[in-house]
Order: sequence, then C-alpha cells, then structure tokens
Amino acid sequence: MTNRYSFWSLFKQGLKHHEGWTPAWRSPKPKASYDVIIVGAGGHGLATAYYLAKEHGIRNVAVVERNHLGGGNICRNTTIVRSNYLWDESALLYEHGLKLWEGLTEEINFNVMFSQRGVYNIGHTLQDMRDIERRANANLLQGVDVEVVDRKTLAERIPTLDCSSRARYPVMGASFQPRGGVARHDAIAWGFARAASALGVDIIQNCEVQGFDIEGGRVRGVQTTKGLIRADKVGVVAAGHTSVLAKMAGIRLPIESHPLQAFVSESYKPVLDTVVMSNAVHGYASQSDKGELVIGAGIDGYLGYGQRGSPHIIEHTAAAICEMFPVFSRVRMNRQWGGIVDVSPDACPIISKTKVKGLYFNCGWGTGGFKATPGSGNVFAHTIAHDQPHPLNEAFSIDRFHTGHLIDEHGAAAVAH
Ligand SMILES: Cc1cc2nc3c(=O)[nH]c(=O)nc-3n(C[C@H](O)[C@H](O)[C@H](O)COP(=O)(O)OP(=O)(O)OC[C@H]3O[C@@H](n4cnc5c(N)ncnc54)[C@H](O)[C@@H]3O)c2cc1C
Repeated sequence: MTNRYSFWSLFKQGLKHHEGWTPAWRSPKPKASYDVIIVGAGGHGLATAYYLAKEHGIRNVAVVERNHLGGGNICRNTTIVRSNYLWDESALLYEHGLKLWEGLTEEINFNVMFSQRGVYNIGHTLQDMRDIERRANANLLQGVDVEVVDRKTLAERIPTLDCSSRARYPVMGASFQPRGGVARHDAIAWGFARAASALGVDIIQNCEVQGFDIEGGRVRGVQTTKGLIRADKVGVVAAGHTSVLAKMAGIRLPIESHPLQAFVSESYKPVLDTVVMSNAVHGYASQSDKGELVIGAGIDGYLGYGQRGSPHIIEHTAAAICEMFPVFSRVRMNRQWGGIVDVSPDACPIISKTKVKGLYFNCGWGTGGFKATPGSGNVFAHTIAHDQPHPLNEAFSIDRFHTGHLIDEHGAAAVAH
C-alpha cells in the first residue's frame, strides 16, 4: 500500500520520525508472463505503463529497465516544456502533453514542480523574425498560446539579457510561450513509477532486454538477463538505444544516436525567472529552484553511446551564453553531463506499430522529448491497447519514411529543446 502524499501524511509521519513511509514503488521479481511489457523505465516508458493501467485497465504490465529507473535521459535533460512547434501534427501532440503537465502533480499525487515561467525563442536577424512570425501565426491557428515581443519589451522583461546593439548578433525580438516552462525531471520519473506501481504495474530494474521472442511474425516475449518474459504486446521506449533494440527484432529504423550535453553553475540568487533560447548563437539557459543556471546547446555531431560529449561543445555553448548574458561571464560552473538522444531525419518522433505484430516503438524524440513525457505515454498507451494509433500520433508512424510524408520540425526543434 503506497502512502498518499499530503500535508496531513507529512505531519503524521513527522510524529513517527519519518520511519513509516512505504517505498514509492514495488520492486517485484518478474512474472513468467504479462499482457504488455514496456522496455525502458525512462519517463516515456513509465508514463506509458501508467496510462495503460489507468486509462485502458491493462494492469498486468511490466516495465523492464537495464539499469536503474531514471538513469537515462529523463534525469539528464534540461527540463524545458513548451508546445510551440510549427506543423499542426507536432504542435497538437506537444500541446496534448502540455495540457497533461498542467494537471499532473494532482493527478499522480507527486509534486513534479512544473513551473510555467514562460519560454522565449530569441531572434537575431530579419529572417529569424520572419520565421518567428510564421510560427506564431501557425500557433495561433492551432490554439497554442504565443506572443511576439520586440527588443524593448525583452529588455524590460529580462534585464540580464544583452539587448544592446553592441552584441555580435544583436537581439531583434522573440517568440514567447507563456504556458511553457520547466519541471523537475527526476520527479516525473519517480512520480509515474509510483503511480503505475500503485495500479499494479511491475517495475523490474537491472533487467536488460537482449532479444525478442518472435514466432510467425508476432512477438511472444523478451529475452532478458533475468530470463524469458512472455507477453503478446511489447512497447519499446529506449531513447538512445532504440536502434540497438530494433536491430534485435530485425527492424531498421532511421534513427541516429548522438550525445547531448548540459551543464549547471553553482547556485546563485534569482537572476533569470524565465527560459531563454537562441538557435542563432546556439545556447539556452534557465535558473533552477536551487539557483543553478541550467545551460545546454545542440548535439555533438558524431554518433556514439558514451554519456559524456566533447569539450568543444561546452566551450561553444559557454561562449553563446556569455554573448547573450555578459553578466554570466564570471559565473562558476559546477558540473557537466551528457545523455544519448535518438535523432530522426525530420526531428519528429516515431510512435508506431511495426512489421512484427504486437511490437511497438516510441522513439526519435531527439533533443526534445522531456516536454512530451505525459503526452507521449498517453498516446503510446492508446496505440498499444487498441493496436491502432491515437489520432494525435497517426502521422508519426514509421511509414512516413516510405511515403515521404515527413513533418519537418528542424526549425522549431534545433537547439530549442
Ligand atoms: C542533456 C539533455 C538535455 C535535454 N533537454 C531537454 C529539454 O530541455 N526539453 C525536452 O523536452 N527534452 C530534453 N531532452 C530530451 C529528453 O530528455 C528525451 O527526449 C526523453 O527523456 C527521452 O525519453 P525517456 O525519458 O523515456 O528516455 P530515457 O530516460 O533515456 O529512457 C530510456 C530507457 O531505456 C533503457 N534501455 C535502453 N536499452 C535497454 C534494454 N536493452 N533493456 C532495458 N532497458 C533499456 C535505458 O536504460 C533508459 O533508462 C534532453 C536530453 C538531454 C540528454
């Protein structure tokens, strides 16, 4: 039985020296078979399991994870949440996720610290501003909140941003999504794990999937380091290791795995109360509740599976941040890390059935899947439960790479996670 988190339970546990809390999720031994197996206990995998149990009544579910829960990108990202993409297909998918974020803390009874402090995408050239106007108009038609702001307004709202004409790439304006913001990344992994476990989902850590059991073109289970586990439906949500798993099932996906880095400064008093991103100088920053500046950029150009990245990207990103915020040039950095992101050719995810019956893939979120965590899990659970895509992920099937119906979001994705 999981404790319900509330002021009252905190008070009661306080009287017992906090020794009465139950573990947030169970860690059972794997059963011989399940209705559905989800591969990967990142944010998307755990969200999928939660929505399978909650919305589709499928509770005989296992999430198998080769490391510990949350050791992948879900706890390595810079937590930016927004939905202002260009094309209807993606804007509506990300907006679905954003709406779920807005009620998530209450829904899963776990504080995911979603802070809607707004996200600015800065424009430095006339062409940037034309692209910003175009995307803002698209967003208005899609029902996504957006504002185009000029340089003067930016200077008033973000005093630390260099809006002078001295800058090498002077700021001309920005698009602003007021409902965008940041959240606590590990909280969403723990929150979904706890909520899914409470509904009966088994979370099995340190259990690597090493192959698929496929008979007559249909999946029958997964071979793992803890033995064969049977299921007639398997959903793979393995982010940077997607193509490795696809290969095990004889499927070739158009996915490249790249390192993506981020770094944080020491903690400072509040100096930045929003999120600022620039594709042109190639960097973005926000300030965490602890006071650290959270900074990131684009991917390392080479393919790889090392969760590190190269120093020249850090140097380039630090230069971009100092260019936008000269006041940060004496900030001291605390730590740096990398994750492995799964990049698709059109910068859009693949949420799809496959040629193997009962085997589904959810991948290709690249540098920007954190924001979609609840939305992605929600539509993927629908796809698995009904063996049919949810209307919001229909356009994101693998088939688009055969038919040519790509959804090119490079402009809205790029550095702007
Ligand atoms: C530095 C960085 C910054 C980012 N910033 C942002 C941002 O600001 N906003 C945003 O929207 N997105 C951002 N992202 C992207 C986002 O983090 C990812 O798109 C998203 O987290 C991927 O989904 P996931 O959480 O399920 O992945 P993961 O947490 O990586 O989950 C995949 C899991 O699969 C497991 N797995 C792999 N192979 C196997 C196997 N064989 N058997 C069992 N388990 C396996 C892995 O161990 C892992 O736990 C960023 C990513 C990085 C690295």
